[in-house]
Amino acid sequence: MTPRPPLKLRLDGGALVANWNWLAAQSGAAACGAAVKANAYGLGAREVVALLSAAGCNQFFVAHWGEAAAIADLVPPAQIAVLNGLDADDPADVLQIGAVPVLNTPLQIARWKAAGGGVCHVMLDSGINRLGIGSEQLDETLFDGLDIDILLSHLASADEDVAQNSRQLGTFSDMARGVKSKRKSLANSAGIMLGPDYHFDLTRPGLSLYGGIARPEMVEHIKPVVQPQASVLQVRDVPAGSLVGYNATYETAAPTRVATLAIGYADGYWRGFSCQGHVTFDGQRLPVIGRVSMDLLLVDANTAPHLAEGDWVDVGFDLLSASALSGMSQYELLTGIGHRSERMWV
Ligand SMILES: *Cc1c(COP(=O)(O)O)cnc(C)c1O
Repeated sequence: MTPRPPLKLRLDGGALVANWNWLAAQSGAAACGAAVKANAYGLGAREVVALLSAAGCNQFFVAHWGEAAAIADLVPPAQIAVLNGLDADDPADVLQIGAVPVLNTPLQIARWKAAGGGVCHVMLDSGINRLGIGSEQLDETLFDGLDIDILLSHLASADEDVAQNSRQLGTFSDMARGVKSKRKSLANSAGIMLGPDYHFDLTRPGLSLYGGIARPEMVEHIKPVVQPQASVLQVRDVPAGSLVGYNATYETAAPTRVATLAIGYADGYWRGFSCQGHVTFDGQRLPVIGRVSMDLLLVDANTAPHLAEGDWVDVGFDLLSASALSGMSQYELLTGIGHRSERMWV
């Protein structure tokens, strides 16, 4: 028997599906896929893929082949695209899994051809200068003999209103013009909100499926999916003038009921929440006091006189404000949280 961890990650499957449906509607005539790399941004790729597949999603993006293998029994493997492409050791495994590589470099293209070819995807770099074929690498013969399903590119700054977005759109359109493919795809979560010009045939949201607010237009529509919960390990009354936590960064101004919770930075509740974050219990907001420890978190429980050892609290994890408070991106918050938690889909 495995002991149950003292913290939980409540995951709202209904909200996940509602977010995908909303993003699919915003994608207009384009189909809507799902980025499920990094274990679906930390939520659990198997559950996410099963839920989204049942909702009608039929194109999934992972970064690694191991991530493809981990979900290849849940959907037709041809629906899984591997963003990092093909490295020297891959071809034999790749053919077995049946997932489809996103070819990013001329060398990856050569490897795919040497391994027998077949349906693939191709990434064009339209200006992020990260992964993909650059315009200076395009030549007439590069894609000869490839059977390209999705021709894609990735936006660097779709979460901002900057000229780079339309520049990338123009570059992608120019680069794609001479390349034969079944489908084209450019937009991530934020890119969907830039309008129909950015949608092409397929959109690829990740962050906003999981409750991330990629652009302000989403605030009213995207539902939170992830709710961390921690158990109370100790509650103690300390007098005014008590120093709380590592390095005494907090001193109680009044007699304070200090509650110690079983969550810390090792669980992705980062040090940036020290003296900034909060938890809720019984409708009361209990502020974090002192430094976040590795496994422990201290809160001022003066407004919750009934809080006791063994109770559970909701840890404040509204992604927009948590990001502002902690200095971490919404992506880092999601992928960091809850590795030691019991995941509970509701
Ligand atoms: C991660 C990723 C996405 C999803 O991006 P979000 O900003 O999370 O919506 C889409 N496309 C590519 C190539 C990615 O790497």
